[in-house]
Amino acid sequence: MLRDSPNSSVQLDSYLGVFRYGRRAIELVWSTDQRLTVALAVLTLTAGVLPAGIAYVGKLIVDSVVAAIAVSSAGGAPDYAGVMWFVAIEGLLVAGMAATQRGIGYCQTLLRVLLSQSVNTLILEKALTLELAQFEDSEFYDKLNRARQEASSRPLSLVTRTFNLLQHGISLASYATLLLQFSGWAVLVLIAAGLPAFIAETYFSGERFRMFRHRSAERRKLLYLEMVLAREDHAKEIKLFQLGTELLRRYKKIFQALFEDERRLTRRQDGWGLVLGLISNAAFYGAYAWIAVATIQGTISLGQMTMYLVVFKQGQSSVSAMLGAIGGLYEDNLYLSNLYEYLEQPTLAWAGASAHGPEPSAGVVFEHVSFTYPGASRPAVRDLSLTLTPGQSVGVVGRNGSGKTTLIKLLAGLYPVDEGRILYEGRNLEDWDAELLRKRIGIIFQDFNRYQLEVGENIGVGDEPRLHDAAGWAEAAQLGQAANFIEKLPEGYHTQLGRWFHQGQELSGGEWQRIALSRAFMRQGAEILVLDEPTAAMDAETEADVFEHFQSLTQAKIVVLISHRFSTVRQADLIVVMDQGQIIERGSHEELVALGGQYARLFELQARGYR
Ligand code: ADP
Repeated sequence: MLRDSPNSSVQLDSYLGVFRYGRRAIELVWSTDQRLTVALAVLTLTAGVLPAGIAYVGKLIVDSVVAAIAVSSAGGAPDYAGVMWFVAIEGLLVAGMAATQRGIGYCQTLLRVLLSQSVNTLILEKALTLELAQFEDSEFYDKLNRARQEASSRPLSLVTRTFNLLQHGISLASYATLLLQFSGWAVLVLIAAGLPAFIAETYFSGERFRMFRHRSAERRKLLYLEMVLAREDHAKEIKLFQLGTELLRRYKKIFQALFEDERRLTRRQDGWGLVLGLISNAAFYGAYAWIAVATIQGTISLGQMTMYLVVFKQGQSSVSAMLGAIGGLYEDNLYLSNLYEYLEQPTLAWAGASAHGPEPSAGVVFEHVSFTYPGASRPAVRDLSLTLTPGQSVGVVGRNGSGKTTLIKLLAGLYPVDEGRILYEGRNLEDWDAELLRKRIGIIFQDFNRYQLEVGENIGVGDEPRLHDAAGWAEAAQLGQAANFIEKLPEGYHTQLGRWFHQGQELSGGEWQRIALSRAFMRQGAEILVLDEPTAAMDAETEADVFEHFQSLTQAKIVVLISHRFSTVRQADLIVVMDQGQIIERGSHEELVALGGQYARLFELQARGYR
């Protein structure tokens, strides 16, 4: 028995899952705009009470008309004014109801816009605090995307439905108050008739909520396939490799499995809904008949009968409106559960605060560093030790997947190391203030971002404080060998790039790489500069040229170059050869050639190709 109770509370909790986020949604709306929220609440309450008022005045009208007829047929003067009064009041109430509905619509429209903005801001602010590893987690990424996609509609929809539920609940309570004068039994019938359908709807909505979450991995696949099939940047390959049919087949198959679940649940939900709905209908009409009989027997007046009939009719539509609201709430809750899971994601806090290290000339020291990507089975970097001193240029070579990029990511503090430590200026990276540390590092990755901004800004992003520094762009572009083609563009440095925007220009792969290189030259303040194969699309000669330039301009800095071209790498002071996450050879070009190891072999192979 004792073990039962937590269980049943869990059950109740999951049963009421559909309401779980109502409070939080209201908090969200409240913090977005308090005045509109209060207005919405007041109008909702008003809209809840008014229908019962209208029904009651309807009764007064009929009763006064009946009384007036009686007076008139007894030869007296009927009270026209009294009747007209009631008619006028009902007219006013109906007008009030219409105004209230308008007001609700007005508040909702404004709140929707504001809420969408504030939720999106919350999402983006959170995104800025997250670690790279979190972005690479597929489940997390899914949460982020879904939270963003529906940010404009879901939170308000949840609030609207919650208020709707409340409004019709109030209407129902006020109808019950009126009905109480007729018979407590009638009230009981009204409640008892609606209750089973209510419970069933809540139950099935909760089921749907759980099913949806359970199936989220499949839905993620579905979304992915949709994206691959429909996006312009994938279209080229899909056509050439004729993948369309196969991917579409998979898409349909996954959909079919999801649809089966959906159909089973919908069938149960609608089956029960129909049966319980019929029962409540029967109860309603039973009460209806009872009221008619009571009127014939003279127990209640004609006016009362009119009122009760209205109350019953509208009570029933209130009940179905409430059922509809509950049905919709599950989707909104699903959304909010997603949103809050995302927003409450712990940020792997980088606690350091240092702005300097104790030994400014010590450069970067890797001490027995190991790192495994989350979820990976093999370490990407293993027991790696390496010293990079200021004024030194370092070339990193190695096969694909040997851990070169990972080494750089660790150096930038994009991932925390698992074992060993990385020191910069004699201080552990983790003890540095992350922002200040990153100001001192400039990295151009091979998959650098191609911002759909102006050309100049695309260079300026290399040094954020100088984002708009036109003279700086031109200088950096000169060094990055981009100036030539930029000057030929229709608007020069102010040419819009990318297809998203009007008159956006597209650049070739090599041109983009020159832009990326210029970014590196823009970053004058950085003391560590890394080029991770951003020159692969250039010819060997240009690449060697660029690197020579780079070295000469960065004499007191640490310069790291990752490249597959030995003709470029040979210029570096130190060359490290990586294999399976480890450094297998290190030394100058001459030393490594003399060593006769992997470097010498690969160098010879490439050199032969050029002869
Ligand atoms: P390189 O730059 O030498 O080509 P990387 O450092 O990119 O190699 O990759 C080293 C290893 O780590 C590879 O086996 C790769 O599959 C794995 N890896 C790289 N990036 C990730 C990631 N974000 N998540 C999981 N594994 C990764």
